[in-house]
Amino acid sequence: MTDTYTVEAVVLRTDDFGDANRVVTLFTRQFGKIEANAYGCRRARSPLSGALQMFNHISATLTRGSKVDTIREADIVNFHDALTADLDRLAYASLLFEIVNRMTFPHQAEPEIFRLLTDALPALNRRNPQIAALIGACQFMEHSGVQLSFSRCVHCGRDIDGDAAISLLDGGAVCNNCIDAAQDVEPYPAALRTTFETMLAFDWQDATQLTFSRRQIIAAEKFFIDYVQGVIGAELKSVHFIREFVAR
Ligand SMILES: [Zn+2]
Repeated sequence: MTDTYTVEAVVLRTDDFGDANRVVTLFTRQFGKIEANAYGCRRARSPLSGALQMFNHISATLTRGSKVDTIREADIVNFHDALTADLDRLAYASLLFEIVNRMTFPHQAEPEIFRLLTDALPALNRRNPQIAALIGACQFMEHSGVQLSFSRCVHCGRDIDGDAAISLLDGGAVCNNCIDAAQDVEPYPAALRTTFETMLAFDWQDATQLTFSRRQIIAAEKFFIDYVQGVIGAELKSVHFIREFVAR
């Protein structure tokens, strides 16, 4: 096994340490999520400084270390200028990236999640960032191993028709016949189900304007945040950011 390897990756998170160093969490096409050290990358003249910023799509060369690998070179494949210039975009891109970071494990190759991130970034940069982040979260869940059943009753398996209920504890939709058997049910209006179904089926290459009702978007956002926070047993930091800074 060679000591040097190259990956294509999205910068999922960065944490500064020391005078000019950074721990960089990458979501790579090849190996899933990895953490690596980047020494000196916060110095303006470092050749790494431009590439190792959150949300960048990069190509990076690393060397293996006994505990942590080190990023030696990094080049930008694609970067999204509006994400750091616009608070709404920054907040919602942070929400999607935090969800992916908190709900994935290192060194599990998941190319479909890498593809989802590289598809979602241009949409977060250009389209309605709240809707893009929620579609990203909805599609990410499908790959995460904790996906919810949105269209079928988790108890009896029947297709849901009209207004029904939903249970985060049970794992999704509950039909009206099974409500008594379900735990902690909440209302699940037909319009919210349609919203989830549209999000799951959404094709990122389709440039048609996205139309969702304001009320369903607010309901979907609350739903995903509650669900992820329930699964990880902690609060998402980006949620505070959204509550504080994003104009409603
Ligand atoms: Zn049922």
